[in-house]
Amino acid sequence: MKAEIISIGTELLLGQITDTNAAYLASELPLLGIDLYWITQVGDNRSRLVDALRRACERSDIVITTGGLGPTEDDVTREAIAELLGEEMTVDPEIEQWIRDMFQKMDIDMPECNIRQANLIPSARAIINLRGTAPGWWVEHENRIILTMPGPPSEMQQMWEREIKPELKKRLSGDIIVSRTVKTLGLTEARVDEMVTPLLHSTNPTLAVYAKLDGIHLRLTAKHREQAKARELIAQAEEQLSDILGQYIWGFDEDTLESIIGSMLRQKMLSLATMESCTGGLLASTITDVPGSSDYFKGGLVAYSAEMKATFGVDDALLAEKGTVASEVAAAMAQAARLKLKADIGIGITGVAGPAELEWKTAGTVHIAIDADGKVSSLSTRFPPRRQEVKRRAVFAALFILRQLLIDWK
Ligand code: ATP
Repeated sequence: MKAEIISIGTELLLGQITDTNAAYLASELPLLGIDLYWITQVGDNRSRLVDALRRACERSDIVITTGGLGPTEDDVTREAIAELLGEEMTVDPEIEQWIRDMFQKMDIDMPECNIRQANLIPSARAIINLRGTAPGWWVEHENRIILTMPGPPSEMQQMWEREIKPELKKRLSGDIIVSRTVKTLGLTEARVDEMVTPLLHSTNPTLAVYAKLDGIHLRLTAKHREQAKARELIAQAEEQLSDILGQYIWGFDEDTLESIIGSMLRQKMLSLATMESCTGGLLASTITDVPGSSDYFKGGLVAYSAEMKATFGVDDALLAEKGTVASEVAAAMAQAARLKLKADIGIGITGVAGPAELEWKTAGTVHIAIDADGKVSSLSTRFPPRRQEVKRRAVFAALFILRQLLIDWK
């Protein structure tokens, strides 16, 4: 079963909104065993939309559209489908009543143009929309299914989950696709590739390797008619990956390093404080992305200049001797953060974020230190000298070291 998504809206073509509807549907379709071959974006233009629909119907079994179901003249999805199929639209009295009731409940006079949303063609039935006034259309024509949904993501997702997905599930009996992402840090992409070579040749599940800022991710994808069997295939391959990559694996799927260290700190009842230089507060910001992080995060100091480092407790003589970018300074920052903010663990980060054009000799150099009750773990490294990337990678590296330290924490 081949599917195509058509996202409708001039805002998409102008780059004013991102096509999250297509991304959402693209992640849903494999779970139903539907292969998505094309995603098309088209503006609010009737003739171009008719073209896009015609092409989609020629090459796909299911065409899913979002957007263009509003009440105004530039909402042309219904008209375009009617034109494509050569069918006439008429106002459906039941839908009209339903829309009128919606307005009455909101205590708003219904603008007459909203009546357009009650239109149907003979090949379509209305799909109920509980979050807005635009019903969707379920169209069946010459072995093709066209599904139209409204553009606002919350309306679209509810319509998909409640009305469309269950119905499609009933009708289809294709392979189910299940995937799992394994996240590692501390190895290069080439090294990971080399280590998992035997698995790279597997066809079910398949394995793909991606380089991300928080490390190298490996995505396993299995196909099977039964979901349980697909999951079993994934579980077996995941075990093999664990044997190969062991300590480098830090999480799965939606896990983030900050949420993982958050749970560990909470569980061990430990508190954390930070002092940052080159990351400019990004470490503290990342740690506080986790809801409830105030349970374990005491706070973060951004000591960008040497003077501020000294003010917050880094030894003047050390700064004079080593400068601001040195592993000893990172260690002193970690200790100062821990003592000043009365935490169990302190993290210090200093370095040169770049770019290379400005500081070609040192750009990308980062020193990270973690002081846990006086015991220091540290890392000095050099990242590719792109300023924002250096900052983000430094933050992930610090969280990764902290994770290791917490695993070993007695
Ligand atoms: P309405 O009845 O609210 O007018 P509609 O079906 O006509 O809905 P559009 O007018 O095309 O939908 O889009 C309404 C809003 O929905 C857009 O301004 C945008 O915020 C959001 N939206 C539309 N399409 C997408 C998309 N593909 N991805 C993410 N958001 C979208």
